[in-house]
Amino acid sequence: MTLNHTHDPATRSWLASANAAGTDFPIQNLPFGIFKPKATPALDWRAGIAIGSDVLDLPALAATGLLQGLALSTAQAGAADALNPLMAIGPAAWQALRHAVFALLKADASAAVQTQVSACLHGQADVEMRLPARVGDYTDFYTSIHHATHIGKLFRPDNPLMPNYTWVPIGYHGRSSSLQVSGHGLRRPNGQTMPPGATSPTFGPCKRLDWEVELGVFVGTGNALGEPIALGQAEDHVFGICLLNDWSARDIQAWEYQPLGPFLAKNFSTTLSPWVVTMEALAPYRVAMERPDNKWDDLPYLASDANRQQGALDIQLDIGIASEAMRQQGQATHVLCTTSYRHAYWTLAQMVTHHTVNGCNLQPGDLLGTGTLSGPESTQAGALIELTQGGKLPVAMPDGSQRTFLLDGDEVTMRGWCQRDGAARIGFGDCRATVLPAMSI
Ligand code: CA
Repeated sequence: MTLNHTHDPATRSWLASANAAGTDFPIQNLPFGIFKPKATPALDWRAGIAIGSDVLDLPALAATGLLQGLALSTAQAGAADALNPLMAIGPAAWQALRHAVFALLKADASAAVQTQVSACLHGQADVEMRLPARVGDYTDFYTSIHHATHIGKLFRPDNPLMPNYTWVPIGYHGRSSSLQVSGHGLRRPNGQTMPPGATSPTFGPCKRLDWEVELGVFVGTGNALGEPIALGQAEDHVFGICLLNDWSARDIQAWEYQPLGPFLAKNFSTTLSPWVVTMEALAPYRVAMERPDNKWDDLPYLASDANRQQGALDIQLDIGIASEAMRQQGQATHVLCTTSYRHAYWTLAQMVTHHTVNGCNLQPGDLLGTGTLSGPESTQAGALIELTQGGKLPVAMPDGSQRTFLLDGDEVTMRGWCQRDGAARIGFGDCRATVLPAMSI
């Protein structure tokens, strides 16, 4: 993906909120989501593009006559309650619509255009969002070697990093039915745990509820069963990226995870941000891969110069807590981790290629999680289990309390953004949920 005029940081919009300092949604971003006005009937969902503090209604825009050709047919594919039809069309269509919308929102658009487009805008405060896509399959990878090493030390002190890690982009098949969009409650799960020193397990609410700072990668065009996607084509199959919090029940996980891996410790819920930032919008923030072990002899199907030099993305991420007491006092979220996707050992293209190398088919709207994106520093720990070293080192909260793992009433907010000299700052919006008490059984 090369840079073009839609990445020019000097471009302004006639919509004032799109030019506000620090906005997540300037004209250079244009992420996609599924929304409905709060005032309309329950099933009236459709696709929109976030711009400033507003949402641009794509089916309404298609009806104005302002779009032609591929941009028009792509906007018409937004007349659905999920982005899957729009995701399936492919990169030329996504680009045609992005460039047409960019032209309509630019500061030099005619007064007539501004009037027509204004009629297609809704305030973000006046709409509800839902999951961007109907996710058929969800796979969670494990692409941060820093996270894998830190977690490995806690679960297996003598053998933290398994020998396959630096050869295989490891993943497991997750659960799509429990994906939730930002803003929903997160119910504390019940489950089996084996307390230290006990000889039989106990049952009850999870006592070690944790988050995982990840990104969610939405598949656009899929591949036919039996036909792998080569590394050089992998990103053509990716529609875009959102924020993903992979809630984890560490006490349940420790007891159940061997030998088949994550099960009930992970599948009770995963929260996604509602806006999907496209690969074209992310083009200015490409960076070279980083590998702390300096190992570069990947098998040929996972290796290319382009991937090594530009396959990583500098997407900055943070996550924090606002307890119930803090929220009552009007205190801001207490950020406990700031990290970046650039520290991942395996790139997005390598995830796609590895997933399909055996012939497995990906479908439009499938979701790939990156795995917890911890960086090399202790402040870049993407999960509480790492930050507190397995619950041994509590962190202090602004309300005077302490945390090792999450308490009921904690509101967890994850944010993501891209920023560098010579490019606009673009953001992902929030990925937020509040911990609700466990149900009795
Ligand atoms: Ca995970």
